[in-house]
Amino acid sequence: MTALFRMTDVVKHFRVERGVVHAVDGVSLDVAPAEILGLVGESGCGKSTLARLAVRIYAPNSGKIELDGTDITAMGRRELRPHRTRMQMIFQDPFASFNPRATAGRIIEEPLIVHARGDAKERKDRVRWLMDKVGLPPEAAARYPHEFSGGQRQRIGIARALALSPSLIVCDEPVSALDVSIRAQVINLLMKLRADLDVSYIFISHDLSVVAHMADRIAVMYLGKIVELADRQTLWRAPLHPYTRALMSSIPTAGIGGKRAALPLRNVDPPSPLAPPTGCRFHTRCPHAEAICSAQEPPLRAIGSDARKVACHLVTETASDALPVWSSEN
Ligand code: SF4
Ligand code: MG
Repeated sequence: MTALFRMTDVVKHFRVERGVVHAVDGVSLDVAPAEILGLVGESGCGKSTLARLAVRIYAPNSGKIELDGTDITAMGRRELRPHRTRMQMIFQDPFASFNPRATAGRIIEEPLIVHARGDAKERKDRVRWLMDKVGLPPEAAARYPHEFSGGQRQRIGIARALALSPSLIVCDEPVSALDVSIRAQVINLLMKLRADLDVSYIFISHDLSVVAHMADRIAVMYLGKIVELADRQTLWRAPLHPYTRALMSSIPTAGIGGKRAALPLRNVDPPSPLAPPTGCRFHTRCPHAEAICSAQEPPLRAIGSDARKVACHLVTETASDALPVWSSEN
């Protein structure tokens, strides 16, 4: 696979008053052109930090970040500028990033002005085209952010993110704040735009059912690490990591064969990223934990094919059924 985007062994720690937050701890992943990579995990697992690393809002402590084969890991503001146009971000609450006194048309036009794209007439035409693409009527251009619903604001955010024809859009919980009835509309819009414009997404959510609906591949993150990576169908049909199974068991109708038995976690709350557990970081909650789990960190390794990776001592090439088989009853 030719990667459009690649992260290798990326680490990002934050020093805070009470210690060091291990937000992202050795993450490697890649995204192909026009691919949707879903990234799922509980709040506080480092997803948003990873998003900001991907678009180089943050610089990592170590590791490598590449966009189309160019190493952008350590680039400064000026050097990054031409690459910035190729990676954009969509936020959970677009309203917070809008100037409340700017019209929707102006908000969408902003990146074109900042990056000196076209004259005034060309920019206006581009804005009209973008608004049409995201399903906003032309007259919406003259309205202000507070006049729009949450779903419409997210459409404005998407139009703005698309203005410079990016190759990669990092979507950080883009539908989490929206009513359930609106979520599907925004997700379907993003999928249609991927098909029309060949744009790639890293689509972040705490909700596996949202990611499983649209992603080509899914990465599951736990306390700063990727614990499972697989294509959507494989992960949905046969999740291997106990944490992935726990996430799936919270979805009432997950998987083929209807409801799954809930996998009881030993503790509800995840440990603090200030003091991640030794060995496997999931061992304090994992119902299958053995002595080795707190002593040794399981590497993220390929199982079956290169496309599928799992970080669990109990899941091996020859014994991937070492974990109890899910029953589809009750
Ligand atoms: Fe559970 Fe051990 Fe696997 Fe970690 S390595 S997920 S604690 S069985
Ligand atoms: Mg977040």
